[in-house]
Amino acid sequence: MDCLFCKIAAGEIPSNKVYEDDQVYAFHDINPGAPTHFLIIPKQHIATLNDAGTEHQALLGHIQLVASKLCKEMGLAEEGYRTVFNCNKQAGQTVFHIHLHVLGGRALRWPPG
Ligand code: 5GP
Ligand code: ZN
Repeated sequence: MDCLFCKIAAGEIPSNKVYEDDQVYAFHDINPGAPTHFLIIPKQHIATLNDAGTEHQALLGHIQLVASKLCKEMGLAEEGYRTVFNCNKQAGQTVFHIHLHVLGGRALRWPPG
């Protein structure tokens, strides 16, 4: 499958790795929107959040818990951070392999617009 994030997870395309385990891979966003901006992806290809089902329930929970664990380790947790899944075009999804954005290190506007 010709998927950029499958290739990043497999190490076929280089990335700045933050974390890896048997289920997920996390790496810094190439175009950061905040002082800290990394992405957490499942190693398994899922195109959009609409394609996730109950069989992915534990995986999605794991991704969120990896986000909070890494933010605690990075010292972002006290001040705060944001996690976002963009789904399809109106949300601005450009890579069709689900990825949790994790942003922190500055005050983040809400709503994002
Ligand atoms: P989306 O808009 O789909 O929610 O987010 C895709 C994100 O992936 C964007 O923030 C973009 O900067 C990032 N991205 C796209 N291509 C690459 C890449 O080759 N390497 C890395 N590290 N990030 C990428
Ligand atoms: Zn993929």
